Amino acid sequence: MDEIDIRFCCESFTKYSNLINKTDEIICPECSKHYVNIKETLKIPINREKILRKEVELFFEKLELSNINKCIERQFNEITFQIDIQCESLIEKINNYRIELIEKVKKNRNDIIRQLDKSKIVNKISKNLYIEEFEKTKNLFDKLKIEEDTKQKLKEKERMENEIKDEIDKYKFLKPEKNIEIEEIVGVFVATKLLKKNLTRESIQNGYFKYYLI
Ligand SMILES: [Zn+2]
Repeated sequence: MDEIDIRFCCESFTKYSNLINKTDEIICPECSKHYVNIKETLKIPINREKILRKEVELFFEKLELSNINKCIERQFNEITFQIDIQCESLIEKINNYRIELIEKVKKNRNDIIRQLDKSKIVNKISKNLYIEEFEKTKNLFDKLKIEEDTKQKLKEKERMENEIKDEIDKYKFLKPEKNIEIEEIVGVFVATKLLKKNLTRESIQNGYFKYYLI
């Protein structure tokens, strides 16, 4: 812009940069023989056309540089990126918590199995041993004794198994009582719209806009 040649009424030329930020009237910087009204000089069609031509050229350059397609891509890519980051972070949290819960479940299951393994009653009773012992016993009273003892042990075993069943029934997975909507956890995609027109930058920052779910 500064390099545009501006013509004076004396037919001499000066650079546009020599005229900006000057008072309205100056002595002709080229011939020094007359006064020049800057505003009027710039309005002369030959000068005005040059200025406009340059303005249009600069405008084209500015818009080419700002490249609206790139702006659109950048904005929506950024939103997509934020959605991905948020979801990945939540997936990681959920998975870590899942592992933690499963570890607790395993630990409790193992504790009960260990408790069962330690039990003498459970380990003592074996159907094979009973059959073996029974078969080598000929005396009826001895047989009765074996059967009574075994029945007693089986009753004890059953009692213990029932206790364990009652205990394991106490363990549960509870889902959250409140039904949490996915939007509350992940977030939402929104557009903002100003509630009033002609707002100042300050009032915009103070939240004079509304979110619209998309
Ligand atoms: Zn002059």
